[in-house]
Amino acid sequence: MDLEFDRNHIWHPYTSTLNPLTCYPVSSAAGVEIKLETGETLIDGMSSWWSTIHGYNHPHLNQAAHQQIDSVSHVMFGGITHKPAIDLCKKLVAMTPGDLDKVFLADSGSVAVEVSLKMALQYWHAKGEKRSKFLTLRDGYHGDTFAAMSVTDPDNSMHSLYKGFLPEHIFAQSPNTGFWQEWNERDLDDFKLKLTEHKTEIAAVILEPIVQGAGGMRIYHPEFLKGVRQLCNEHGILLILDEIATGFGRTGKMFACEHANVVPDILCVGKALTGGYMTLSATITSKKVADTVCGGDAGCFMHGPTFMANPLACAVANASMELLAQGDWKQQTHAIEQQFSLLLPELLKHELIEDVRWLGAIGVVQSTAPVDMEKIQQHFVEQGVWIRPFGKLIYMMPPFISQPKHIETLVNAITTALESEECFSE
Ligand SMILES: *Cc1c(COP(=O)(O)O)cnc(C)c1O
Repeated sequence: MDLEFDRNHIWHPYTSTLNPLTCYPVSSAAGVEIKLETGETLIDGMSSWWSTIHGYNHPHLNQAAHQQIDSVSHVMFGGITHKPAIDLCKKLVAMTPGDLDKVFLADSGSVAVEVSLKMALQYWHAKGEKRSKFLTLRDGYHGDTFAAMSVTDPDNSMHSLYKGFLPEHIFAQSPNTGFWQEWNERDLDDFKLKLTEHKTEIAAVILEPIVQGAGGMRIYHPEFLKGVRQLCNEHGILLILDEIATGFGRTGKMFACEHANVVPDILCVGKALTGGYMTLSATITSKKVADTVCGGDAGCFMHGPTFMANPLACAVANASMELLAQGDWKQQTHAIEQQFSLLLPELLKHELIEDVRWLGAIGVVQSTAPVDMEKIQQHFVEQGVWIRPFGKLIYMMPPFISQPKHIETLVNAITTALESEECFSE
């Protein structure tokens, strides 16, 4: 592979073009193994950012892609429909909780979030109320497009860089009580305060249920989410749940909101929707919200991406949903959770470790000093694993099919990183 060209001409995420971090050349991947061109085989600890839940190169997903490509890869969705989209939306309507039954398909997680925010704005517009604020949590992450960024943690998403252009929304303190801790109802105080203070301006609350992902890998108590739902109900404010990272079994439930028995008014899913094969997302809402949106002046919802409901992506998503319907994910994510609960607390003995936390197939190790990205990445590759930390967070969300020996290898690689000082800054 022409790595020299890559280094000189290709922008990779979150690294400088001046002195880019090393990129490792992948030649193929299968199951939980990623093969490098240089010969190493790495056990995957990332599921390619939450998405590859069934592992790479899965025969059932491959077959779905092959079959669809020989029939039609893409056709516009305006005035046209197709079986892959219908089959997928049937499954989504059936598996999502409560009365979520109108599906809008889009191309990425960030776009699903944009769509959800636009739906909320159009909902209030149609009701003749001027509401343009969103209430969200600190430490959240909702994507990199402008509206999504405007509800992402102001520090993590560098709001100062885009000041004057980025709409300003309302941020409440994120909950402190961890998932496994005893609930402290004071956690809701700031949220309650901000909600009541701005209740006539707020179109919707948007947050990540139970697990705040890229904004800090925080895993919080279900009672917080229950409280949020109740407060939204009391004030007639819409609740948008962003399950782009947590959806499809990652937290041990099909959707994380099920930990709190809460149903949102609008749900965003993405990432694992196609089992990690290609990009596809969905924003799903109730008949009530959809009918209100479309009953307004505009007469319809104002969004229509070119690749909406791409048949190839829908076909693979259908195949991924079929694998989930077999139900093995429950036992698999439970086993991974059990193993994290045994292995991760051991790491607390190390002075570089501030906290460890886990839920379902998510394991988080928080260090006291930020990692040295170049060094720790090299260390992980030498140890035969693929884990990509950020800042003080070394986290794992392995494919559900990972065996105990794979999880052990991942955790061992973190343990040896802690023993090698050069993996951390300062
Ligand atoms: C990744 C992510 C997004 C953005 O999805 P993209 O497909 O990267 O645009 C939004 N919300 C959450 C919670 C995510 O984890």
